Amino acid sequence: MAKNMKGEDKDMGKVAIYPGSFDPITYGHIDIIERGLEIFDKVIVAIAENEEKRSLFSVEERLRMVKSCFKDTSNVIVDSFKGLLVNYVGKTNAKVILRGLRATSDFEYEFHMASMNRSLNTQLDTLFMMTSKDYFFVSSRTIKEVARLGGAVEGLVPDLVVRRLKEKFKLPVPKKRRIGWDD
Ligand code: ADP
Repeated sequence: MAKNMKGEDKDMGKVAIYPGSFDPITYGHIDIIERGLEIFDKVIVAIAENEEKRSLFSVEERLRMVKSCFKDTSNVIVDSFKGLLVNYVGKTNAKVILRGLRATSDFEYEFHMASMNRSLNTQLDTLFMMTSKDYFFVSSRTIKEVARLGGAVEGLVPDLVVRRLKEKFKLPVPKKRRIGWDD
């Protein structure tokens, strides 16, 4: 039986890695994960720790939000990684990188990344899923921008993310909703 870099058996079902910043997680991401689960037995959501990229939420905060969204879904694993994605993938049982495509503007970057990753590891493929019609305009960046200016992002991100955004931007949060990170 094939072994991965850790010496673990690789034939343990179909596993995909869904890497990204998730700063914060949106329903666009969740839609890709849920559709990924129709194809794969397990999806590993891998939050990139990128010191070069300024994020609104710390890695710990992002981990907690994503874990909270999938607390009842045992086949979604949430983790973070530093450095090259291909190195992280090698430590798991995944053979596929899952990515979402929103617009043609995503394509060029994604095409280069997928080609580079395949050049670094020829065993690794990237699977792209087209965004759903309800979320094609949703990105973490626009969500943060709108939330910062006090606009409504309900319905585009989970309620717990709406609350965290309001807290970050010091906007009023209904009292009864001021509850723990993992609610
Ligand atoms: P963003 O580009 O929103 O900052 P990430 O870096 O966290 O997001 O993205 C991780 C992956 O999820 C990327 O492949 C990205 O294209 C995809 N993605 C993000 N938002 C959506 C969406 N609304 N629909 C489909 N895919 C998405």
